[in-house]
Amino acid sequence: MTGETANLYTAFVARCANLDKTFIETQDGRRIRYREAFDLAGQIANVLKDKGVRPLDRVAVQVEKSAEALILYLACLRIGAIYLPLNTAYTLSELDYFINDAEPRVVVCAPGSHDGIQSLMTRLSGASVLTLGTQGDGSLMLLAQTAPTHIDAAPCRPDDIAAILYTSGTTGRSKGAMLTHRNLRSNAETLAATWCFTAGDVLLHALPLFHTHGLFVATNIILTTGASMILMPEFDPSVIRERLPEATVMMGVPTFYTRLLQEDWLDAKTVAHMRLFVSGSAPLLADTHREWSERTGHAILERYGMTETNMITSNPYSGSRIPGTVGTALPGIEVIVTDPQTGAVLPNGEVGVVEVRGPNVFKGYWRMPEKTEAELRSNGFFITGDLGRLDDNGVLSIVGRGKDLVITGGYNVYPKEVETQIDEIDGVVESAVIGVQHPDFGEGVTAIVVKAAASNLSESAIVKALDNRLAKFKLPKRIIFVDELPRNTMGKVLKDALRVQYKSIYTSG
Ligand code: AMP
Repeated sequence: MTGETANLYTAFVARCANLDKTFIETQDGRRIRYREAFDLAGQIANVLKDKGVRPLDRVAVQVEKSAEALILYLACLRIGAIYLPLNTAYTLSELDYFINDAEPRVVVCAPGSHDGIQSLMTRLSGASVLTLGTQGDGSLMLLAQTAPTHIDAAPCRPDDIAAILYTSGTTGRSKGAMLTHRNLRSNAETLAATWCFTAGDVLLHALPLFHTHGLFVATNIILTTGASMILMPEFDPSVIRERLPEATVMMGVPTFYTRLLQEDWLDAKTVAHMRLFVSGSAPLLADTHREWSERTGHAILERYGMTETNMITSNPYSGSRIPGTVGTALPGIEVIVTDPQTGAVLPNGEVGVVEVRGPNVFKGYWRMPEKTEAELRSNGFFITGDLGRLDDNGVLSIVGRGKDLVITGGYNVYPKEVETQIDEIDGVVESAVIGVQHPDFGEGVTAIVVKAAASNLSESAIVKALDNRLAKFKLPKRIIFVDELPRNTMGKVLKDALRVQYKSIYTSG
């Protein structure tokens, strides 16, 4: 690929067979056709260019979800700028780090955040702040209204950076993953083909736009196939029900599925017309998978990926989707499991670090060459930090993050193994197992458990139930009952927060 053809925006336009087709339908029923979206992308691109944005300049964006926010992403791609979405939950003091690290030429924020963000940008000469509200309001749209729709797409090389997404790391400084036009394009095309997307598909889009799942997996697949999406500001089961009849596919985090299972209306009839339900970004409980199949007749397709690599593995579109596994490597992508100490490739069946190589793997961390070198091997394999196991058919199971491994009395305990056993006990809804500092064992296996409302399960009953199923050293030393597990917006359990909350249960007498 050379010249213009490597620009992801150009690829999207080339793949759109019908410009009159709906690209986005908003929750309030507004339809935006592809032609309108590309025209507005041109107008926004002209505004950004007038503000001095050149190819590879960063455009940082912290706005609520809207059709215009999505089109702003297209505008950035079109002029070869680097799109840098920021979680809407970040506070001003957190934004200070991101803005000064990324040095954007333009920041687009919600109208109410303008002054606060402006005050963070004193060190960035020539940078501007524009605003974008959820109703097409704000200074960006005001300027765009009178801007020309035409602008040439910037010629890009495949390895040019298209976007930087900061990882949601809760320890240390957040790292900016640099994703190239090739990374995003190859993954979108691979996923669209693997999951059999066509222009006739209509996606229920209830995911945030600042994360790889909602921004790249969901959006880029739609743009790659000229399909349509129903864009919802957030996940709301009653809105899902209302829009379900028009849709063919839903992508969600596991909590979408557990929440929908609480709805009385969910049955095989309401989803009979659906083609596909996809889950990812956090582990889908095998129980949720089974319950969903029983209720709806659909097997959820679980896939696995991360910010730095886009999507890595997927359960099959045709063929059996195995609960508790994340499927096989996507075409063109290699997955290996290695020994955490030596880096040697492990035989199938053994747990080790998941490593991945392919056109999906990012270029490195923004301005962090040492971190890039530590995690991206010179042979192209990226060390994901996830622990997993491959079976003889190449099916991967994720057993947790490496940093979540519990080392107790010198033995390794994989939290997922203990969680799976606890979750099978009658009366348990779900659990999170963490390592907590322990005076005798180094770390004590500790289970945080949510039990069903009507259950009177006790700590000793759980330990007793586990007794024959797990080796002694894996048994929780303490079980703590809670009403719910803390989660981030992508449905990931916040184990760091749990470790902090319970850090002194074995040491404070
Ligand atoms: P993020 O970069 O925020 O997308 O987070 C990526 C991390 O989410 C991965 O490294 C995994 O730890 C986790 N993850 C994503 N998908 C799955 C899945 N299907 N099963 C288990 N963990 C997952």
